[in-house]
Amino acid sequence: MKPVTADRISLNTATVKAQWGLAECIEGAARHGFGGISPWRDVLAEMGTTAAARAIRDAGLAVSGLCRGGWYTAEGALTQAVMDDNRRAVDEAAELGAACLVMVVGGLSEGSKDLPAARAIVAEGLARTLEHARGAGVPIAIEPLHPMYAADRACVNTTAQALDLCDALGEGIGLALDAYHVWWDPELAAQIARAGRERLLAFHVCDWLVPTRDLLTDRGMMGDGVVDLKGFRGMVEAQGFEGLVEVEIFSARDWWARDADEVLATVAARCLEHC
Ligand code: ZN
Repeated sequence: MKPVTADRISLNTATVKAQWGLAECIEGAARHGFGGISPWRDVLAEMGTTAAARAIRDAGLAVSGLCRGGWYTAEGALTQAVMDDNRRAVDEAAELGAACLVMVVGGLSEGSKDLPAARAIVAEGLARTLEHARGAGVPIAIEPLHPMYAADRACVNTTAQALDLCDALGEGIGLALDAYHVWWDPELAAQIARAGRERLLAFHVCDWLVPTRDLLTDRGMMGDGVVDLKGFRGMVEAQGFEGLVEVEIFSARDWWARDADEVLATVAARCLEHC
């Protein structure tokens, strides 16, 4: 495998969300020699999509994904507001030239204990968004989330489950595989092979710390935890994936408290050594 040099790294803006807005992320990623960026929609909205698209282009960065669409279960049903927001997310991804729109699909609706119903809402929501996304030329990437988020963030929790949805929905939809969410899965190798090149749309890395002290904001820097990231990349690239290695670290206690340039320099060094 080719080493993960800086030009093969994409900065997910959540990695320095406490320190930098999108303009600083774009400038910083370029200054550190990174190949791409993956904005979250909150920082994108602050900068404005058109201005961001121009700045990213001018900086010579690729967009490995836009985070995120989905949340289909937020209002207990596929309301106009939920579908409109996803439509806007697709349009923003198109304007950015993003490699995909990453979908965090939503968990249980408020007050509900009906997980199958939530999953049915998600399947229908994805199908409707996909129609618009195909027309806009934006690949949809389902991000299976670790099962600890099934209630409050995403009721799609394994790679197999996400691929079952992809099988049902047809062209234009695939996976965003995040090491943090799927590293533990005994079926991971088989499901990556099942996905194949066409459906591997994004590859996110960080590390799983032992112990993990917060369910959401205690992700580790690559090399500080227990995930075999080289092994994971090997499986994805064996299928022909040629996208960027997107670094996405939510770290309230550590990396969000550091100087952002130190974070990016560390990301580059750790990707080279551990990814
Ligand atoms: Zn991710």
